[in-house]
Amino acid sequence: MATPVSSGYLSTHLAAAGVILGLALAFCAPLGVAQAIDRGPAPRLASDPHVDPHIAGAIQQVSADHIRQTIEKLVSFQNRSTISPQDGESIKAGKGIGAAREWIKAELERYSKDCGGCLEVKTDAFTEQPGDRIPKPTEITNVYAVLRGSDPQQANRIVLVTGHYDSRNSDTFNGTDAAPGANDDASGAAVSLECARVLSKAASNRIKFPATIIFLTVAGEEQGLNGSKHFAQMAKQQGWKLDAVLNNDIVGGDRSSQQDTSVVRVFSEGLPAAASEAEIKRIRALGGESDSTSRELARYIADIGRSYHAGVKPLLIFRLDRFLRGGDHYSFNQQGFAAVRFSEFREDYNHQHQNVRSENGLEYGDLPKFVDFDYVARVAQLNAAILASLASAPAPPATVKMLTKNLENDTTLTWDPSAGAAAYEVVWRATNAADWEYVQSVSSGTRATLKVSKDNVIFGVRAVDAAGHRSLPVVPEPER
Ligand SMILES: [Zn+2]
Repeated sequence: MATPVSSGYLSTHLAAAGVILGLALAFCAPLGVAQAIDRGPAPRLASDPHVDPHIAGAIQQVSADHIRQTIEKLVSFQNRSTISPQDGESIKAGKGIGAAREWIKAELERYSKDCGGCLEVKTDAFTEQPGDRIPKPTEITNVYAVLRGSDPQQANRIVLVTGHYDSRNSDTFNGTDAAPGANDDASGAAVSLECARVLSKAASNRIKFPATIIFLTVAGEEQGLNGSKHFAQMAKQQGWKLDAVLNNDIVGGDRSSQQDTSVVRVFSEGLPAAASEAEIKRIRALGGESDSTSRELARYIADIGRSYHAGVKPLLIFRLDRFLRGGDHYSFNQQGFAAVRFSEFREDYNHQHQNVRSENGLEYGDLPKFVDFDYVARVAQLNAAILASLASAPAPPATVKMLTKNLENDTTLTWDPSAGAAAYEVVWRATNAADWEYVQSVSSGTRATLKVSKDNVIFGVRAVDAAGHRSLPVVPEPER
């Protein structure tokens, strides 16, 4: 439970910070921006949307009804605790996490059949040794499907969507009583599955995704992120080029009176969990505290939110996660990957991690009736648009450098060519702006000089293909 103490503390301090920041903006922003752009041609606004009509069409195939069926099916397994039974008898009876795992596998195989075998359905299984929330050696199985990229030069680049299919009730050691987990996190697992269904279908029709997309569901989240930890370590050890991880956890849009279903929160870390002491030192020196790869991914998501009409807007929260809670994106952050968390705007703690019961007229438990399936579908549309855009885009530019040999007011950037790129764009923003503000196209070559002082702004470089798909931006490293 989030305590009123911590949220009160936070809001008081944020309010104070807001006043100070507001004053700073009032005095600094117009001056800073004017100085930054006054010597060159007026740059384009970075918020210009870009829509690929094929992607816009594909995400229309997301079905709230199908998502409802997925969530209700997952709930039907009674208890999907990682320590619930997974023996043959239980699987046959349709009870426990083993039965849920087998159903997810079969479901992904069914989608694959519908797209001419375009998905490779796999499992990542391992035995977790006893720990805080694991009483005895326990088999944990992550289930996933791979939609292999169509371009041999880019297929090693991966974007991934995940949700956890395990659940819990009030007691993390209770593997038998009802733990429906409709919102936490059948909703997230359903987003991953629905993206697999819709994007595999799109790939078998006319959309080509040069890069690879992985649709993952993990277990062990409620016991300590065990499944995602194992998967992320595997990705790291095997040298995967994992560009982006979208973790959907509690995206059910709980039907409480103060819910805001027009937005979905997107949490991203600031200082990278995987940064070494030397890297932290460099970040501090350059003012890069808000430019982790996860944060660039969050800004990319904001861009997709402006471009496509998913019916839900990303609300960027510049923070790793909520107070007193964690999630699977952190496992990927720890291995150095860009990863963010999607969650509904307002959680109802009576409907999470609770035994199903009524007390003093209040209903407890994570039941499907509290889930807004249309909302989950809109979150799935947003996820599908992000995955499709990233997998359609060229590779992000590598070795992006900012030349700092001399004291000068112009800025020169250089980078290596990206596979699939037709052009590049330099984006920038004032150091106190949350999102990219301006963009300048670079139609030929891999070098640009801008009449903008590197001291006053933060730059990024992104690759663009002939159809206008944009890569994630890369923030340059200074080079002397
Ligand atoms: Zn969860």
